[in-house]
Amino acid sequence: MIDYSAARESMVRTQLLPRGIKDTRVLQAMGEVPRERFMPEQMKPYAYDDTAFSIGSGQTISQPYIVALMTEALELKGTEKALEIGTGSGYQAAILARLSSVVYTVERIESLMTTARDVLDDLGYRNIFFKVFDGTLGWNEKAPYDAIVVTAAAPVVPKPLLEQLKENGRLVLPVGDQYGQDLIKITKKDAIFYEKNLGGVIFVKLIGEYGWSK
Ligand code: SAH
Repeated sequence: MIDYSAARESMVRTQLLPRGIKDTRVLQAMGEVPRERFMPEQMKPYAYDDTAFSIGSGQTISQPYIVALMTEALELKGTEKALEIGTGSGYQAAILARLSSVVYTVERIESLMTTARDVLDDLGYRNIFFKVFDGTLGWNEKAPYDAIVVTAAAPVVPKPLLEQLKENGRLVLPVGDQYGQDLIKITKKDAIFYEKNLGGVIFVKLIGEYGWSK
């Protein structure tokens, strides 16, 4: 039997703390959400390895550190309405759901959304809402959002996501080409968008009207 809780604790101690993740709420959520539940059966033993993994349909579950980095950048206090583009395995949605009040998550591949929803339901999350849709268009009916995270690589910042951001809201997303991107944090203040580069990352492509074409 694998001791997943020990592996999870070790991941926080050896992968997140040394790289500078400081938000205690993020560290706590990462230390509690069972990443193994979001992994394909035969990959579960590797759930706390320092890497991304394939989850089928050509998609991936992100490296724990990158999930922590993106989440920390959203500056969640617990009261926020958050939007995630790219549900994938549902792991990042679980982390967001623990740190904000409500999470809306959009995925373009229906089978991924269904699997993620089943796992999140089973884990008891009741503040996550799902939609199969082109997330480059956001989820307009529920806007505006305090925090938006895009977990796929965008060629440019999708305009609808800027429009759906609340005043003082944060948008975190990888922007670049298919071989590598910069993780960009955008903050909206007095209707002006301020940009900060958080470093290099590699994500699968964001496909849609304001993303890459198929
Ligand atoms: N957040 C996920 C990682 C997702 S990988 C996790 O924690 O596991 C990126 C996901 O973005 C893939 O599932 C892919 O299908 C999805 N995606 C790509 N383009 C999209 C779009 N336009 N709208 C919604 N989802 C999209």
